[in-house]
Amino acid sequence: MSEYSRILGVKFNNITHKEAVGLLECFLEEEKCHSVFTPNPEIVMTARKDSEFMEIINNAELVVPDGIGVVIASKFTKEKLKERVAGYDLVQGLFSEIKNKKYTVYFFGGAPGVAEQAKKKMEKIHKGIKIIGVSDGYFDEKKEKLILEDIKNKKPDILLVGLGAPKQEKWINKYKEHLPVKICIGVGGSFDTMSGNVKRAPKIFIDLGLEWFYRLLRQPARIFRMMKLPLFLFVVLKEKLFGR
Ligand code: UDP
Repeated sequence: MSEYSRILGVKFNNITHKEAVGLLECFLEEEKCHSVFTPNPEIVMTARKDSEFMEIINNAELVVPDGIGVVIASKFTKEKLKERVAGYDLVQGLFSEIKNKKYTVYFFGGAPGVAEQAKKKMEKIHKGIKIIGVSDGYFDEKKEKLILEDIKNKKPDILLVGLGAPKQEKWINKYKEHLPVKICIGVGGSFDTMSGNVKRAPKIFIDLGLEWFYRLLRQPARIFRMMKLPLFLFVVLKEKLFGR
């Protein structure tokens, strides 16, 4: 089985959830800052049209498929992905592993107050977790400087950045070399879920690969974003049959 699977130009690590959590733990032992991204079909489609974004994703140390659509698409290629690794689950898996260790976490992103709520919830669920800073994701240049200062002073091992794609990936790429952080993860709307403001789909939906459908039922306005999913599968099939 190959180490990577390339879907419409985006290079995914072909690993399981458990292997991905293990890799993150290895990253914590290294001195450099590692970027971790979790593209879904919508993000892959965006990257296809934005070469800077594509390059940023493909230069990350870990890229996992947050979306059953990407895993299905990989079945049309020679490099089938082992499984979906949702960004939310990856973070929860990491928290479980590190909660009683020395590692510290910083939450950056979401509407004002949401990261703070998420911190409180996570501290209840993962007793012992060390969340040492939070900042919301709505900022101008002046506020951004203060956020960067705060991160530099607190030196978290793990920085979760939830600004939505491609903003969070571009932000991480711009600053990662200047931050005293071991891992930066682009977590999209995960703070909304961690805070309890947005409910995760019931397990049965997740197991059946229908989490996207549940999200659509809860947030019908997402229909326009989700229209990219059938288009994504169509483009993957087209490229398989006729090439680029
Ligand atoms: N967001 C932010 N700053 C911005 C734009 C968005 O902090 O300038 C946050 C927004 O509040 C939400 C997240 O980014 O929490 C994007 O969530 P979405 O569900 O779109 O991301 P996905 O999980 O689909 O990638």
